[in-house]
Amino acid sequence: MNPSSSPFAEVAYTNGYEFTEGSGYALPEYPFVAPPELTEGRIGRHPVVIVGGGITGLTLACGLAKLGVAAVLLDEDNTVGVKGASSRGICYTQKSLEIFQRYGIFERIAAKGIEWSVGRTFAGHDEVFSFDLKGQSSFNLSRQPAFVNIQQFYIEGYLVERIAELNAQKPCVDLRWSSRVVAFEQNAQRALLTVQTPQGNYQIEAEHVVDASGSHTPFHAWVGVELDGRRGDDRWCIADVKFKDTPPTERHTWIEAPFNENRAVWQHLMGDQVWRIDYQMAPNADPAYVSREDVVRERLKRQFGEQVQCDMVWVGPYAYRSQCVRQMRVGRVFFMGDTAKVVSPFGARGGNTGIADADNLAWKLAAVVRTQAPAALLQSYHDERLEAAQRNVQVTNRTSRFLRPVEPVAQVFRRATLDLARRHRFARNLVNTGRMAEANTYSRSPACAGGGVSVQNVVLRWANGQAGQLNDLIDWADGALLLCVFGPLSAGEVTRLHQLASQTPLLRLVQVVGPGQTPQAVEHVIDERGHVRQACRAMDRRWALVRPDAYLAATGHGMDGHLVGAVARALAMA
Ligand SMILES: Cc1cc2nc3c(=O)[nH]c(=O)nc-3n(C[C@H](O)[C@H](O)[C@H](O)COP(=O)(O)OP(=O)(O)OC[C@H]3O[C@@H](n4cnc5c(N)ncnc54)[C@H](O)[C@@H]3O)c2cc1C
Repeated sequence: MNPSSSPFAEVAYTNGYEFTEGSGYALPEYPFVAPPELTEGRIGRHPVVIVGGGITGLTLACGLAKLGVAAVLLDEDNTVGVKGASSRGICYTQKSLEIFQRYGIFERIAAKGIEWSVGRTFAGHDEVFSFDLKGQSSFNLSRQPAFVNIQQFYIEGYLVERIAELNAQKPCVDLRWSSRVVAFEQNAQRALLTVQTPQGNYQIEAEHVVDASGSHTPFHAWVGVELDGRRGDDRWCIADVKFKDTPPTERHTWIEAPFNENRAVWQHLMGDQVWRIDYQMAPNADPAYVSREDVVRERLKRQFGEQVQCDMVWVGPYAYRSQCVRQMRVGRVFFMGDTAKVVSPFGARGGNTGIADADNLAWKLAAVVRTQAPAALLQSYHDERLEAAQRNVQVTNRTSRFLRPVEPVAQVFRRATLDLARRHRFARNLVNTGRMAEANTYSRSPACAGGGVSVQNVVLRWANGQAGQLNDLIDWADGALLLCVFGPLSAGEVTRLHQLASQTPLLRLVQVVGPGQTPQAVEHVIDERGHVRQACRAMDRRWALVRPDAYLAATGHGMDGHLVGAVARALAMA
């Protein structure tokens, strides 16, 4: 990047968080730069203020930067990840990887991370469940793999660097480190945030505030949000380890691990050949003792044999709770990521949901801030992402009950399931060590009635014969809805479609033709293998309306009132 073209903090974004043999990770430190509110002593007013620069807040910031929308991001810390913690999130789903492909960081994630698709679950020495996601049709159309394992802080760092690159093209997102929000108020006219910094406090006003400040958010109390939640007593110890002789690159889970006193164990490979091994603790265990290096090494010997040779990268305990807001928005404040819901880590639903929250809101905020869509469009964020949050809480709560059955009936169910799964194939699907995260469906959203499913990033060919992918088309639409019309069109239809596109600022038209078909619309792509049509669930339809977050708003046959209505509903103009 060329820092001189950006008015924001001129920061040398280095890969300080690369793994160094023997000394583990050093996370980058970003400097505090006094903002105009401090240097010029005035209260700035910003269209969007994001509180929290974790994976969720940074994803939103990157999405807005890509669409050229100005935003300020405030983070109390001066680094990515959690200081002192080597890893939190590790598994990233195909949907998240597709989003990151659009945002321009997928290649780096793929290069650093580990692709995997095979999972095996054991009870004692018996394999009681296994899957290979590669064989599942729901994953094999996309250009992105089913899962990549990578340390969460790498993704956060890539996002910071990508935002700096985008800022160099057009200054948009002001990342403000060491800036803690300590007070908040809102009314019909404005939202006012008080920010604490190393050089004193200042205040800023915002049109829209996104709370991405994680599970300990102060905003719940500030705006009085209602929550559903429960606290569990299940506790785990993470050991991030580098082995001399590495185990297979598969996700192995034990419900009853003989080397962990018959409690659960997770084993995953991440970037830098670091293995993440999670050990479930006994209910009355002392977390400090269980996390002691000599105790961890003893456990590793029981698991991998006396001869095991490894370096410890990081060790630490964690507990989890389950919580979900009842409203994704209160006034000007939107909840996102862990401020919207907190789930157990089983199934990798925490960070992946935050990424999808961010991608859902980014284009809607952009459309509203640029006055291309009414503010009512933002309501669909609540409708869609609350459904996703509630679903993820429900699924992870079921897993938690299986892994730590407290009620007698849950204990009986687990014992019976494991007994059956050892002997019968049909029972294997009942074994629940985490249902892996997937793109949630929006069945309750009026904005995508007749759609609401995620559209995979499939291959296509541009009119000039160049290979492309659906994400290229979404990029080309630049924050607008993409109307894909399939096959030949009559002259009347072409006129009607062009009229509709010219009357709707947030609509781009593309004709999708099969091999040998002659296009009539100006822009067209070639769907050689029918994958675009399949991904758009339009095998027997003539058009599909794809949103900037690669969700299907609607499909249909006639280029008439139904299509006009679907466009209006998708943009909350109906
Ligand atoms: C052991 C473990 C394993 C996990 N595995 C996975 C996995 O494999 N895949 C997955 O998707 N998820 C996983 N998760 C969940 C995932 O880590 C979280 O869901 C994710 O970190 C949430 O991101 P976030 O950005 O919403 O919040 P956070 O990551 O908590 O970020 C919040 C940010 O807000 C800042 N902040 C806080 N308060 C303020 C304030 N007042 N003012 C300014 N800034 C503030 C903080 O500094 C921080 O940067 C796992 C979690 C754990 C604990």
